[in-house]
Parts: sequence; C-alpha cells; structure tokens
Amino acid sequence: MRPSSALLGFALAACAARGAPSGAARDDPHALTIRVLDVGQGDAIYLTNGGSRVIIDGGPDEARFGHLLDSLGVHHDTVDIVILTHAHADHYRGLRALFETARHVTVRYFFENADPSAAGSLRALRDSVAARAAEGSLVYRDTDDPCGDGRPICTLTLRGGAVLHVMRPDPARSTANDRSAPVKIVGADSASFTMWAAGDAETAAIAWFLGAAGYAADPGMRANVLKGDHHGSCNGVTPAYLAAVRPDAAVLSIGAVNDYGHMHDQAKAAYRAAGVPWYRTDRNGTITITSPGTPGGGYRIAASRPGTDLAGASDRAASPRGCGDDRRLPSPPG
Ligand SMILES: [Zn+2]
Repeated sequence: MRPSSALLGFALAACAARGAPSGAARDDPHALTIRVLDVGQGDAIYLTNGGSRVIIDGGPDEARFGHLLDSLGVHHDTVDIVILTHAHADHYRGLRALFETARHVTVRYFFENADPSAAGSLRALRDSVAARAAEGSLVYRDTDDPCGDGRPICTLTLRGGAVLHVMRPDPARSTANDRSAPVKIVGADSASFTMWAAGDAETAAIAWFLGAAGYAADPGMRANVLKGDHHGSCNGVTPAYLAAVRPDAAVLSIGAVNDYGHMHDQAKAAYRAAGVPWYRTDRNGTITITSPGTPGGGYRIAASRPGTDLAGASDRAASPRGCGDDRRLPSPPG
C-alpha cells in the first residue's frame, strides 16, 4: 500500500454545497446510486451520494445525454465531478449537454487527459471547459496528474462518504483507448460496495494497471462490480483482470446495433470462465446499482429490463485466429 496516495483526499463538502440534495440523499445520507445509462454505443455513468453528483463519460450523443440529464432532474444543479475517461466521441460528445446555457449546470471539477485531438467536437467541449475554468467556476484536472501534485491517484470524498479514486492512465500508451483513466468507486461502507471502471482500456493498459502502475495494491482492484471495458470487446478483458477484480457481476454499455460486433464471444467466454454474470445496456436498459452505505448494507443491481448473460443483435462470434482478427471481420448483414 502507498498510504500517502490513499489518504490524499479533498472533501467536496464545501464546494458541493450549492447543489440541492436529492430526495434519496435526504432519506439516507450515505446512500450511493450509480446509473449505467443506456446511451447507445458509448459509455455514461451517473452517480449520486449524499447530494454529490458525479458523471463519468457522457455517451455519443449530446441530445440523448441532455434528455437523460433532464429526466434525472439535473437542471439548475451542481455536478461536482465530471470525468472523461478518454478522448473518444462515444464518451465525450454527450458531455457537451452539461454546458448548454439553458441547462444551468455548474460543473465543479472536470477530469480528462489533455492528449491532442483533431476532433472539432472535442475542441468545442474543451473550449466550454476552459471558459468555465477561466471564469473560476470549474477546476480542471489532467488525469495524468489527477490531483495536480504529481501523485498518480486522486482520492475524492463525496458528501455521503463514498470515495472516488481517479487514477493516472498509462503515460506510455498512444492509443486513445489505452489512455483511459481508471476510476474506483468505494461506497460509504467499503465492505458493502466497490466498483472498478476503466473506460475502454484494452489489454496493454489492463496489464499496466495490474503491473507497473501498482493499482492492484493501491487503491486495490478488487471490486463488487466491474464496468466491462471497451463495450465487451475481446480486447477489453483478460483472465488476469478478472482474477484481480473478482467482480460479482460486470455491467457493459453497448449499442443495440453496432459495427464492432460488441459483445465479442471471447469476452463472454472470459466472463463465463470466471463465473461473472453480465448486464448490458442494449438488452437491460439503464442498469442501476444502489448501496445504502451503512455497515452490512450490501448493494443491489436493478435493470430496466431483467436478465443476465444476454446476447445482443450485433454480437460477433470468435475468430479462430484470435481477438485481433475480429476487427477485420465484416459486419453481419443487416
Ligand atoms: Zn467507447
């Protein structure tokens, strides 16, 4: 353990005070609710704890994410932490809805890597973030230095006592997916609930988390729930990863019809071999995880549509030549 990192915290109580606590938070101040939102082919997670609000990625579509924000009542509110795991459109485009003037949302902290990008839509998001930072309402954090002090892990305590560990991505990687920043979510009662989410990290980044980064020791990769990496791609899971996280279940965000063949059969086989059931947004809809945050309170997963280990319309069979070849297989007809 590297206790200096684990203890590196900054409480959000003061800066989050502008946001009105949600009804659930008033009922149970330690309750944690995590919604893995059905945004199509992309990722978006909305988390609340004690009135703190956190968003990890915003999916591929600004209008769709904006509609979800409206349905969740995020309007004239403060979102304490926004984390863009990596610079791909299926993760950042929706986040632009947070900065639409009519929505009146205050974002306190915005995390992303500062990797250069030629994408105009990302530039527009970054311009919005920079404008808020310049006026002093937003604190910008580069995930390569997540607390701004050189440490690899930034630990943030939410108002209900839940904790986020935002971790530096592999600095040596050049592909956007492998530059995904991992996040560990720990409930107010850490024995009741933890979750590991690492965007679209592929096998090289996953090996780095397990090895040189030391994240298996600090903050620890064991978690009750794994957000399945890279939408169920065969390159988003390894036996060693599942052996380290040892999740009770995986939750994956996938478009009902996608050109990538997600989920890949190899990923399903890996989860099956490790005894990990999966939920997927294209079949289950929005997946909601709740933990009361009280000792022994445990946690619960509820899906808009029931079922685990479901297959999807675009799922692609394994190539006998391995995962790398799957990308080059033609899409199924229709
Ligand atoms: Zn993605």
